[in-house]
Amino acid sequence: MENPSIKFGEYKPTKRKIFQNTTLKKFMVHFRRPSDYNGKYGFDWLRDEYIYPIETVTNDNNGTAIGTPTALCKDVAALKMEYKTTDVVNPISPYANDYYPAWLSIFPYTTTAQFSHGSRMHKNGVYLDLEIEELETLVDDATEILFKSNNPFLKITPSKLNLKDLISSKRTKNLGGTTARDYYLAEKKVNIKCEGGTLNSHEEIKIFAKLGVQKEEVGKLMVYKNNVIPKAEIVAINVITSSNLANLRNDYQYLFKNQSFNQALIRAEVKVDTKFDINSLPSTDVDVQNFINNKNTMSANQIRSSIENLYLKYGKHKPVSGQIDDNTTTRTYLFYTDLNAGRTSGICSLDNATNVWGNHYVIFNQGLNSKRTVIHECGHSLSLPHIFSSALSSFEFYHGYTDNYMDYEWQKGNRAPNGSYYSSGDNKFKGNMYSLFKWQWNIVRTDRSLILNY
Ligand SMILES: [Zn+2]
Repeated sequence: MENPSIKFGEYKPTKRKIFQNTTLKKFMVHFRRPSDYNGKYGFDWLRDEYIYPIETVTNDNNGTAIGTPTALCKDVAALKMEYKTTDVVNPISPYANDYYPAWLSIFPYTTTAQFSHGSRMHKNGVYLDLEIEELETLVDDATEILFKSNNPFLKITPSKLNLKDLISSKRTKNLGGTTARDYYLAEKKVNIKCEGGTLNSHEEIKIFAKLGVQKEEVGKLMVYKNNVIPKAEIVAINVITSSNLANLRNDYQYLFKNQSFNQALIRAEVKVDTKFDINSLPSTDVDVQNFINNKNTMSANQIRSSIENLYLKYGKHKPVSGQIDDNTTTRTYLFYTDLNAGRTSGICSLDNATNVWGNHYVIFNQGLNSKRTVIHECGHSLSLPHIFSSALSSFEFYHGYTDNYMDYEWQKGNRAPNGSYYSSGDNKFKGNMYSLFKWQWNIVRTDRSLILNY
């Protein structure tokens, strides 16, 4: 422990010693996601790089060169407000600092009598990291960190930790310019599970720092309510246009259920796994002829539209009545094909008048083996726009800098002569893009195709 009398002559050592032992040091605590995260539960927080100029953005979303460290969200004030207040129970400002609680979503583990839509998915809970944000220099004193929930179904293990066990190695994070943060990272220190019943509203886990009789609220984790588990029924259709079947990656059902929409507490299941052989359709039908004759030169959207129309005419699992994209359709149609459509991996229809996404999408040859494409296009179908869309996204991010399913795997560069854009490099999360943001959970859970009563 330091001897402060050397640096601060005006203090008498005895006085300083008492001060150190009895005064609760100032710090905040944040729950964070472990580095090996791969989408198996929902966890979201306000990332530093979204609001501070940390990452270098090469180009704006319209192609204009930037080339300097830039906050990745273009609406920093709005994004801060979102994480500080929306759905947050009892917002806090420890030591007059802004505080943005992280969000966790986990399924309840229940008996059928307790809740018929529970799941074993998070039976063993999830282990989360803790970040201790230092507001003044921390010391090895007797400070404890306590976790408190008022909901009996929300279990936090352990419920108490010693601060000194968490602060072995200090790190400094540059937040752009001269701003920096000192913090400690304690990995997978806390297990959280929901067992025996559901969370009927968004729940807070309060975090307290305690030393002797002094106690301060220094953090919070929000846990998303899990008493309503919408069901997304997916009809997967192998659209055969040649002598070959299209080979969709074989873990796609697992992806739907366990590494994507589960984050929004949606049970996404492939209900029908079927084939649709174009070559077996009546050759006298002019629509069939057109598709067979032009399929190799059609645009992605033309192929999508043709498949939609042909399936409505001849498909075995088409909606009982109406169109696939009607409001009454409670299934999502995943068409996949070994056809190519230029550089397009997949496409979902969007009604330009209403900005409502369709209930079907198509994956082309180059997207068949991409985890991200299978989920990304379904995300559109479940109402999620690109996060870099200025027109459609709640918050506009720069193109290709996040690990979000609704981002792209490449960074947008300069504008090309044909009106498209060059890539300025790969998204650094390429191949590891498993995130859906909390505000996206809210959106996707209200999609018209979801089934609430089952
Ligand atoms: Zn897209």
